[in-house]
Amino acid sequence: MEKGRFPTRCIHAGQRPDPATGAIMTPIYATSTYVQEKPGVHKGFDYSRTNNPTRAALEANLAALESASHGLAFSSGCGAADTLLGGLLAQGDHVVSGNDVYGGTYRLFKRVFEKFGIEFSLVDTSVPGEIEKAWRKNTRLLWVETPSNPLLKITDLEAACGFARKKDALSVVDNTFATPALQNPLEHGASVVLHSTTKYLGGHSDTVGGALLTNDRELWEKLKYFQNAIGATPGPFDAWLVLRGTKTLHVRVERHCANARRIAEWLSKNREVGKIHYPGLKEDEGHKVAKKQMRDFGGMISFELKGTLERSVKFISATRIFSLAESLGGVESLIEHPASMTHGSIPREERMKSGLTDGLVRLSVGIEDVEDLIEDLDQAMKAG
Ligand SMILES: *Cc1c(COP(=O)(O)O)cnc(C)c1O
Repeated sequence: MEKGRFPTRCIHAGQRPDPATGAIMTPIYATSTYVQEKPGVHKGFDYSRTNNPTRAALEANLAALESASHGLAFSSGCGAADTLLGGLLAQGDHVVSGNDVYGGTYRLFKRVFEKFGIEFSLVDTSVPGEIEKAWRKNTRLLWVETPSNPLLKITDLEAACGFARKKDALSVVDNTFATPALQNPLEHGASVVLHSTTKYLGGHSDTVGGALLTNDRELWEKLKYFQNAIGATPGPFDAWLVLRGTKTLHVRVERHCANARRIAEWLSKNREVGKIHYPGLKEDEGHKVAKKQMRDFGGMISFELKGTLERSVKFISATRIFSLAESLGGVESLIEHPASMTHGSIPREERMKSGLTDGLVRLSVGIEDVEDLIEDLDQAMKAG
């Protein structure tokens, strides 16, 4: 494991000056193959799907951020999830997962892996006892997203991962929303942490990527085998972009959190606004557990605007600084409508069960001036 406190690790972990030139920044090793001295005798690299120096630096960096011993980088968060599920599960296995998860994760469960005879029970993992109730003899894996997307529900990691461990099952925590700056699920008993590095880790909305991090060497070896066998690996330029992003992660996340807190407070005093989902608010259902396992509450907020669905849509379309777009975690603020955008792949009946209503609005609060952001939301509400 790399040394230093979190900000130092962000900047230095996994990154040595280039041995060939002394370049302080890890070069983009744009190569598919590597010259060998004799068959099988090489410098640790033989083919770039298997290993690449730029990707290796990223993998070491991401592992250090989660205080993990091992890391693997992927071409997307979905690629990481696909490798994990496809590599570790077999026909007849059962998975218990949160019911408020990223829409693409839900789609992977239901449209891809159910085809191969793997079963999924989706429950509200933030409610104590729900995981236990859904558990079966053939449950091999627990999947938790906390804070969840888009309702920012908080699952008690110690309790959830502890239960899976007691049952000899794996627990996977999607830590994309919190980032390793705010929460380290491996320290709360998770077997594997998953990231969509597309979001806060990359941080600039200019690349798509994913990662898996673990402290279990045997599990890492299996996952590394499947990373190569399945092939959802990032190219060196994408690996480099994420590596560039993580250098400022600690500073960006601080500002994301401060801005989101101000906006959540402003929303909570606004009469146009109904239910607000933000674990940083004292009255939020997840506040107590979030305080226990997170260092701050993150940059994501969702809320309901009072009035009709048309009003919400008008509001979302009228912002000038917040851009109407899917995705999250970049320096710029985004606004979106989960029911028709990021979570459109979930049937209405399913998402209403988890509380994802038609009128829900989701914000990814960026690091612009917060007064500008509040003024923008205010003018858009008046326009609606
Ligand atoms: C975006 C996202 C994913 C999927 O990652 P991609 O990089 O888009 O494939 C998974 N989980 C969460 C929480 C996400 O926000």
